[in-house]
Amino acid sequence: MKPNLIDAVALATSHRDRDELDRAVAHMLFEHVQPNCVKVYRVLGEEGRQRVQLRVLIDQAGIRDGDAPSDPALLPLINEKPHWHECALMSDAVHYLPEGSETERFDSVFPLLGNRGLIGLIEVEFSGQRAAIRPHDANLVHGVLRILRNHLSALDYGERDTLTGLLNRRTFETTFSKRRNAIATARPSDGSTKGTWLGVIDIDRFKTINDTFGHLFGDEVLLLVARLMFDTFRSTELIYRFGGEEFVVVVDGAEEDGAVIAFERFRLAVAAYRFPQVGQVTVSIGFTRVRPDDIPASTVGRADSALYYAKEHGRNASHCQDALVREGKLTAKAAEAAELELF
Ligand code: GH3
Ligand code: MG
Ligand code: MG
Repeated sequence: MKPNLIDAVALATSHRDRDELDRAVAHMLFEHVQPNCVKVYRVLGEEGRQRVQLRVLIDQAGIRDGDAPSDPALLPLINEKPHWHECALMSDAVHYLPEGSETERFDSVFPLLGNRGLIGLIEVEFSGQRAAIRPHDANLVHGVLRILRNHLSALDYGERDTLTGLLNRRTFETTFSKRRNAIATARPSDGSTKGTWLGVIDIDRFKTINDTFGHLFGDEVLLLVARLMFDTFRSTELIYRFGGEEFVVVVDGAEEDGAVIAFERFRLAVAAYRFPQVGQVTVSIGFTRVRPDDIPASTVGRADSALYYAKEHGRNASHCQDALVREGKLTAKAAEAAELELF
């Protein structure tokens, strides 16, 4: 064992920020295994249609971030590369002959497991350096990944709601600000008006559900609504349980009509679902385009004013705040009032 490995692990697990953690792990493995290259990927989405996003790459030239396309649908599916697919299926390391390799050498891919299954992949490549990973280095990577798994599950505990497994409100500000910064720096090259949308979703007449069927059935409704969200929205990374029966969803890479379709699809899925005992449940939704200069409170305030409009106009509806303002049905003032009430 290299003398400072323990220090490196201690340093890596001092990070609470996932991006910092990815970088620290890449760096540590690069130093200690001494391959040609280490790549850390995040695995997004639900089982069966998981997508793979390169987060960090480190080689002789240094460490750099992978590109994050604004639309998650542009990311490769996990089954596009046989070694990713096998690694995901087996939840174990896979050593593979890289595509187009002229010499007999093996690269390795390791699974990064979280509480709810595969959350990342780590590729270790050896071109030119060594034919394959050494057994004791493979053990080292496994050990590091086990420590990382424990660390991540401790982080999860503080960041996620225990009932639904969704991110909690506390994590919203930091993750949202990061998203917004990415929006501000990413200029769409095709001149499109695709953007990021934030929706506030509130279950209609939830108090009546509790009063009629009891809290246990109320909780079951919350859990099932959260499941329907996982099924409907593509990225599970940006769904929050904001309060009791209120959720926030961030939709990426969509034009306004795309956002309308996404939120409507969810609203209709809830309305069509038969909840045990309770029967039909509906939701109201307000959403708005995220602006590069937004602070979290103002985005949520705007979406909330559209949600309020939906509640005032019969519920079981989704409304776009930007459209309501355009049509003269809502003023920007309404958003400010909602913002003040919320924060
Ligand atoms: P509206 O259509 O206007 O949204 O009506 P509502 O009844 O949903 O709104 P209101 O905000 O008056 O009630 C929300 C209720 O949600 C009140 C509270 O008892 C319930 N609630 C909050 N958190 C939980 C929870 O974790 N579990 C259960 N079962 N109920 C919860
Ligand atoms: Mg409600
Ligand atoms: Mg509410």
